[in-house]
Amino acid sequence: MRALENQPHAVPAMPDILATCHCGAVTLRLPAAPARITQCNCSLCRRYGVLWAYYPIAEIGIAATSPTDTYAWNGRHVDFHRCATCGCLTHWHPRKAGRETLGINARLLDPALLAAAEIHYKDTAGTGLFH
Ligand SMILES: [Zn+2]
Repeated sequence: MRALENQPHAVPAMPDILATCHCGAVTLRLPAAPARITQCNCSLCRRYGVLWAYYPIAEIGIAATSPTDTYAWNGRHVDFHRCATCGCLTHWHPRKAGRETLGINARLLDPALLAAAEIHYKDTAGTGLFH
């Protein structure tokens, strides 16, 4: 039997967590369910009605059958992606190389996973602090 450490994909089998848009065109593969979720009250997030789960970019697999539509605002540091077919907001991704975190729309997850996570409220429109 060959040593597992020489095989880059021979990591212990962990069930991936999938977040998908409504039509299934966009799929995000997460390494684990989020323990913590952020609700932000900024002018954009409150309109999207989104809940964010943050992950290292390297840990997320993003597959889309067609290019997503994007939106950027303010400093235009990140692109907000949405499915071009069903319109679901799927994630934000930093524009600048070197940034290591992206945000996943946790509302795309199985509701049971969402219910199990702790929700933190970020007052971006006010103090900028969590409360
Ligand atoms: Zn879709």
